[in-house]
Amino acid sequence: MSENSEKVRCLIIGSGPAGYTAAIYAARADLKPVMYQGMQPGGQLTITTEVENFPGYPDGIDGPEMMEQFRKQAERFGTDIRFGVVTRVDLSNRPFKVEADDGKTMETETVIIATGASAKWLGLPSEQKYMGQGVSGCATCDGFFYRGKDVAIVGGGDTAAEEATYLAKLCKKVYMIHRRDTLRASKAMQHKVFHTPNIEMLWDSVPAEVLGDEAGVTGVRVKNVKTGEERTLDVWGFFVAIGHKPNTEVFAGQVELDETGYIKIIPGTASTNVEGVFACGDVQDHHYRQAVTAAGTGCMAAIEAERFLTS
Ligand code: NDP
Repeated sequence: MSENSEKVRCLIIGSGPAGYTAAIYAARADLKPVMYQGMQPGGQLTITTEVENFPGYPDGIDGPEMMEQFRKQAERFGTDIRFGVVTRVDLSNRPFKVEADDGKTMETETVIIATGASAKWLGLPSEQKYMGQGVSGCATCDGFFYRGKDVAIVGGGDTAAEEATYLAKLCKKVYMIHRRDTLRASKAMQHKVFHTPNIEMLWDSVPAEVLGDEAGVTGVRVKNVKTGEERTLDVWGFFVAIGHKPNTEVFAGQVELDETGYIKIIPGTASTNVEGVFACGDVQDHHYRQAVTAAGTGCMAAIEAERFLTS
């Protein structure tokens, strides 16, 4: 690291609801936070359309617009927001050393990790084409738009099973497409799926193409991988639930991760195993994954950082 590193009290890495909320609290506590926004400023909400479940927006709000408001609020209290990606961290000693791709090196007293997770996608061109227009990575966020309609979901894990049963309460019919003939989901979740009458399982099947028109998704062409047979499902919504990948590569070996790569926190706190390093939002949560829970843990991280610095 360079000899003339910039000195920072609180460095926030990532700019979704968790990072921005941490920034608002840290800035108001006079920690003079510096934020690196990361690869996707605003995070996953910038690839959604309308957000209807964040309290305080009775008429709903577009995800990108909401993130813009979070950013402005963080800036209003003096957060130094930078467009760039953190490329290297050394959390072995305090002050922690951090390098970013804008050429800056920093020595920071505290780090708040809010780098989120990225949904995995199938990689079909048609999936990309109808993203936000019927293709979704979050049933809790977007299921409501398909009330009384037919939808499909792909995946066989706990997320897919949970989301399929959630969708089944809102939608007329849910097709659950899974590439094998057994689910990976826990037995309890499997039981729920198999006992929900309006979920139809399509075993040994993969989506071959998402179909649509200018208004969005109209169907999905599904292929049976064993027989080669194809079938077209008339659906309005296509949910992809094949897992998430936490954005923790840069922290590997520096802070404790669980077996799936999520940052481990001390339960009920935002503290990691390294004193002075906190984590919030989806990078430490594979369970709730909501903007409001991310914002809540962002607040916790900033309060803990402030207490750490003043204790
Ligand atoms: P998982 O990795 O557990 O499951 C992903 C699913 O998607 C698997 O069934 C997998 O198939 C399938 N899949 C992966 N890639 C593809 C692909 N390219 N094409 C088609 N299908 C694909 O992810 P989850 O998000 O479901 O769960 C992550 C973790 O979170 C797990 O540990 C889970 O138990 C936990 N979780 C717990 C919950 C709870 O306790 N209530 C709720 C939600 C998640 P295959 O099975 O063939 O590999």
